[in-house]
Amino acid sequence: MCGIIGYIGDREACSILVSGLSHLEYRGYDSSGVALMEKDNVNIYKAEGKLINLVEILKTKQDVISKAHIGIGHIRWATHGLPTTINAHPHTCNCKNLTLVHNGIIENYQELKEELTKEGCIFKSQTDTEVAAHLIAHEYGKTNDLLLAMQSAVKKIKGAFAFCAIHKKEPDKIVVAKRNAPLIIGVGEGENFVASDIPAIIEYTKKAIYLCDYQVGVVKKDSIKIYDDKNQLIENKIEYLPFEAIAISKMGYKHFMLKEIHEQSDVVRNVLSSKLTDIEHEIKFDEFKLTSNKIKNITRVQIVACGTSLHAGLVGKYIIEKFARIPTDVEPSSEYIYRDTIADENTLVIGISQSGETADTITAIKQAKNRNSHIVIITNRTDSTMARLADSLLPVNAGIEVSVAATKSYMAQLISLYLLAIYLKEQKGLKENEKEIQNLKHELITLPNKIEMLLEKTDEIQRIAKKYSSYKDFIFIARGINYPSALEGALKLKEISYINATGYGAGELKHGPIAMLDSNMPVLAILNSGIVYDKVLSNCEEAKARQAKLIGVSDYIAQKDINLFDDLILIPAVSDILSPALNIVVLQLLAYYISEYLGKDVDQPRNLAKSVTVE
Ligand code: GLU
Repeated sequence: MCGIIGYIGDREACSILVSGLSHLEYRGYDSSGVALMEKDNVNIYKAEGKLINLVEILKTKQDVISKAHIGIGHIRWATHGLPTTINAHPHTCNCKNLTLVHNGIIENYQELKEELTKEGCIFKSQTDTEVAAHLIAHEYGKTNDLLLAMQSAVKKIKGAFAFCAIHKKEPDKIVVAKRNAPLIIGVGEGENFVASDIPAIIEYTKKAIYLCDYQVGVVKKDSIKIYDDKNQLIENKIEYLPFEAIAISKMGYKHFMLKEIHEQSDVVRNVLSSKLTDIEHEIKFDEFKLTSNKIKNITRVQIVACGTSLHAGLVGKYIIEKFARIPTDVEPSSEYIYRDTIADENTLVIGISQSGETADTITAIKQAKNRNSHIVIITNRTDSTMARLADSLLPVNAGIEVSVAATKSYMAQLISLYLLAIYLKEQKGLKENEKEIQNLKHELITLPNKIEMLLEKTDEIQRIAKKYSSYKDFIFIARGINYPSALEGALKLKEISYINATGYGAGELKHGPIAMLDSNMPVLAILNSGIVYDKVLSNCEEAKARQAKLIGVSDYIAQKDINLFDDLILIPAVSDILSPALNIVVLQLLAYYISEYLGKDVDQPRNLAKSVTVE
């Protein structure tokens, strides 16, 4: 994943680089580093762990760093080599003339390393990136030109990369290149910027050039030149960035995750606005570009996503099949890409990703595009790579999500999928389920209030979280449309508390997982009133018979069943079909408070990053 940043201009580079990296921390936080060019010397500073460790080091070097007006920086999510200071970027070559930061994976780094070692290159780190640094430096030796060196090096590299390089012998420029990893060049007045993402530079400029794959850019203080892979200069396409320079603040909440959980009622209102205003009218989906005739020809839907977005997709399958009556498959993008998938121009392929930069999903979407399928992208980032690949772009408008554990973006994805399912049904002119649809529309409109009512139960959930925070394992069970809620609840818990949590379809419990049950295994059961209530209740009985601790989450528990549960969390009354949107709030809060009791780093859990730009 990683975040990269570059600055060239008259200001003090270091503070711009550090501030930029702080806005890229969502991309990784294993280690960080900057390289600052001062006259014809380059000083590199690196630190293991969070950015704050680098900031502490830089504070002691203030006299040197304040003179640098050109620099590059990096925040790492390690793919090759431990998250140590040696492996932290920037990396250099033998003579230290070239300095490089990199986002991505160099797949042929072993072969390149062997060749370069024979040429005399000495490697200090275990990273794939250092191979690229030596390779570019090696190519530089042939031409004495950083642009040409970068161009010929990238031709030899397999994999994904965004590179940002400086060279002591060409101290007036930063040279950048990319393939399958994001990179923007921020356009300033007498200064220019390079970054993996907009928040890093939005404080300084609202204009940027999105570098395309196979292009190489030469960024100077007063000019930006972009070349294609044949070394032809191409016209700069300057775009206006879609963000305001807003301060991203916790607004008094202890963590971003808690703030984002509490924002969910407004997120639902945002997603619904202009699409669903009252129950009598059809859903308006101007962003959906297929005509109703074409929609009638859709023979299948394929949803590709990863992690939390994949769980939203699983809920999507239930509702698209139920209402739009189109066979729907949901698959992790990382698996979809290795099948000889059957899809054609009558297939709707829906890619879901908070960041719109999820590498596996991008690859899946590109494959689907080659099969002429209609590409629908559900994302929180309209400026992302996936958004640019969309035939129909459905922005979820959840606002910037800082916490690595996704909460409000999941809610926004869910609501978008509900709207999409109803929209497809209405466009197909299907007349079944009319009453249920009217009821669902009404429930969607009242959902924000119910989320707010549920959030008033925070103290109760906090108490239950404390009670269960010392357990080492957890099982989540549900059936039907809440099966994905069980998966998502378990994922939330494991990603921020590191407790071993697994979600199962409740019916699967007896086919293996039940062997693990005893008094040390809490089982959280989601059993809304509806067709699966009795069945999940029986599975709860089975768990209780093995002395498992039972937590029930439901909008209704019959009086006779109450004593079965060690703890119960009742949500506001809701239909089974919309219940995932309320149940998940309970599971998010439970995971949040367990993590908090355990003293974990809630917003930046270990080993994770928010935007997963490597396959
Ligand atoms: N592969 C590089 C490393 O491990 C960059 C990692 C990334 O961009 O995720 O340092």
